[in-house]
Parts: sequence; C-alpha cells; structure tokens
Amino acid sequence: MWSKNVSFDGGALHLSGISAAHLAKEFGTPAFFLDEDAYRSRALAWQHGLQAEFGAQAGTIYYAAKSFICTAVAQWIAEIGVGIDVCTGGELAAALAGGINPQKIELHGNNKSLSEIDRAVSAGVKTIVMDSLFEIERVAAAAKKHGVRQAVMLRLTPGIEAHTHEKISTAHEDVKFGFSIASGAAWTAVEAVAQHPELELRGVHCHIGSQIFGSEAHEIATDRLMAFMAKYRDVYGTELPELDLGGGFGIAYVAGDVTVEPADVLPQIHAAVKQACATHNLAMPLVSLEPGRNIVGPTMFTLYEVGTVKDVVIDGGKVRKYVSVDGGMSDNIRPSLYDAQYSAVIAQRKSSAPLQLSRLVGKHCETGDIIINDLQLPSDIAPGDLIATPATGAYGRSMASNYNHVPRPPVIAVNNGKARVIVRRENEADLLALDVKE
Ligand SMILES: *Cc1c(COP(=O)(O)O)cnc(C)c1O
Repeated sequence: MWSKNVSFDGGALHLSGISAAHLAKEFGTPAFFLDEDAYRSRALAWQHGLQAEFGAQAGTIYYAAKSFICTAVAQWIAEIGVGIDVCTGGELAAALAGGINPQKIELHGNNKSLSEIDRAVSAGVKTIVMDSLFEIERVAAAAKKHGVRQAVMLRLTPGIEAHTHEKISTAHEDVKFGFSIASGAAWTAVEAVAQHPELELRGVHCHIGSQIFGSEAHEIATDRLMAFMAKYRDVYGTELPELDLGGGFGIAYVAGDVTVEPADVLPQIHAAVKQACATHNLAMPLVSLEPGRNIVGPTMFTLYEVGTVKDVVIDGGKVRKYVSVDGGMSDNIRPSLYDAQYSAVIAQRKSSAPLQLSRLVGKHCETGDIIINDLQLPSDIAPGDLIATPATGAYGRSMASNYNHVPRPPVIAVNNGKARVIVRRENEADLLALDVKE
C-alpha cells in the first residue's frame, strides 16, 4: 500500500527520509504527498514492460490524466516519454503546459465540445477516440477546417461485466460510452468514418472499467475487438494497425490487497492478442494501454490532523470511536461515491495502546462524510495526532471539490530527501475569486 520510499522509523512515517511531523509542519494538513521516484518508476515499468513484451508492436502507454494531472506531472511524463490520455480541454491544457508532445496525446470523452475538438485537432494530437456518430462529423469538420488528416480510433463496447464496482465498470452494454459491437452500432461507426477522407481510422479501443484484478477481462475484450478487426479486414481489404485496450489495472488499498504489476498482466494480454491474430489470420497490431490509477495511485498518501475524537455507543452497548480529521469527502470522495476502502495509520508516533473499533470521518456537514467506515485504531488517538491514508494518488486530488467552501489541499512532491509544492494549497481568496459582488 505504501510507495517505495516510505519507511516507518521508530513507528513514525517518513517519505524519502522526511518525517510526517516535519512534512505537516512545513506544508500543513490536509495535504497529498507524492513519491516522485515511485511515480517515475511505475510509469517506466509500464513503458519498458510493454516494449519488452511486444517489441516492435509495442504501441504507447497513455497515462490517464484524469487519475491525477498537474503541470509538473505532465513535465515528468514528457521527460519519461510515455503518452497521455486526456478527456477534456482542461486536461489537454495541462498536458500541453507540461510540454508533452501532441503526438503523444490521445483525446477521449463521450461528449467532447466543439471547442475541445477544435483545440485538439489544431494542436495536432495523435489520436481522437470517437464515441458517437455526431462526433465523427464534428472531428471531420475540424480536420477539414485545419487542412489535416486526423487519426482516429473507435471506442467499442465489447459487452463485458468487469468484476468491479458498477459505477467504475464501463464496458457492459447499458452504458453511455462507446459503440456497441453486439448491436451493430460499431459497424455503423466504421462506415461513417469511411465517408470522410479527412479521417484516418487507426484502430479500435475499449476501456472495460477500473480497479480490475487479473487479465481475464482484458483478454476477453481482446478477443471481441480483434474479431471486429477481422471483419473490417474482410470488408475493406486492409488491416487496422492499432489496438488500445484501455486501463483499469487495480491497486492495493487495504492489507491483503495486491497491486497489479505490468509483468502480472502483459504476458497474458500478449498471448490473447497472438491467439486472436492466429484465429483470424491478422498481423500483430500495435498494442497500447492506458493505466491511470495503477501508476499514480500507490505513489501518494494523504496526511490529515486529528481535530476531535468522540466515543459513541452503538448497537449492543459497543463503543465506536469517531476520529475527525481536517479534510474528508472534499479531498477523497471515493468512499462515499463507490464504497471504496482505505486504510490509515497514526503517522508521527508509535502507539502500543490497545486497538479500538473506530470510524475515520471528515469535517464536512454530512453524515456520509466518511473516509474509513470501520477500522481499528489505537485507543489513545488524540487531537493533534497525524493520520496518513496510503494509496490516495488516483482520483483523490483529481476529484476534490470545494464542498463547504473548504480549500482543496496541495500536492507536495518528495524526492531524494527534498520536498516541494507542485500544486499549491487553495486559499479563501481563491474561493471568493469567482464570486461577483452585488
Ligand atoms: C478512466 C480511464 C482510464 C484509466 O483508468 P484506470 O482505472 O485509472 O487505469 C483509461 N482509459 C479511459 C478511456 C478511461 O476513461
């Protein structure tokens, strides 16, 4: 659950040798701390893993920006040389601000605006992934306007129930994303793209969901997408050169979970692609993936300060200790949104007090503002203690809100014993800056 440069010296958490107490004193709480070295190594492990597994047919690792992006991280991505998947104008702006080569950028989204499409085409992004017939017309019009031939992929729905929470499962039939293979919509989309000489159909894409373990779902998706590529070859006489199987690789949030590593899934995915090539007599396509959570998730923890503790008598006379911290659903909405599980430790000291049934809650005016529903914490936990929750890098800061007019926490990158702000803390002036005074 903890990133590679986290250690517990004398029971106190340290990141790259800097203690939690020191980090809290210098940067305040709540705050996200990012293990830069871990981030870079996870991104590189996917990149090198894909290259080692697929050789000349290795496509691109597109880091999913929505899991967490800021200008500094975009700069690291540019330096490392992996690609990026963006799905809004804002994410595109961050990618470009970080100096990422547009030829490493892929644009997603089920309702890209006309201006987002226009900016992506004029910036020269590598691929736009089509999600509706309207969009095919819109991208073709933008390509014509800018006098370019735009490479596109089709997002397909292979009809898979991934074993994950319903709200992060994206490739069963009844979803807003993509063109269904089963219903014929996907084929209609192929024919629509073929009407436009300004569009170059590069291949097919799917993203089956998030926080998925094992490679089975990706293997089934491979079969269905490649059967579709074979149909394309049969009708058009040429093969589509690219296959993009999306992201979704799971990570550990609580003890007993295991983070998926590239080597755990790439050989199986490769075998599934090879098998489908043999079945359909297709050449090996370029294979790309879009891990988001799996790269950034394990590399950050959130540091909070305990403000109050309260023993509450619950069913059967049991007592539950409510531990309130200075953040909550505004910096981690995932427990409320998808019953996501997290773990927590006291970060600045060791405690040998007996463990007590506890609930870690935030400061928002909402009963459901719960970070961890049930956990065991030392019974001597008290105001002023620091709490660290690991694996908050993905969909934490990126889904943060200003609920209750709470300023969003900063992100601090820590590397080689040095810590620096890469996203500063919001302040009340930021919150009021949008208001128009009567
Ligand atoms: C969200 C998303 C991803 C990344 O998902 P993770 O579970 O974070 O790996 C990749 N591709 C697309 C199209 C997405 O929507």
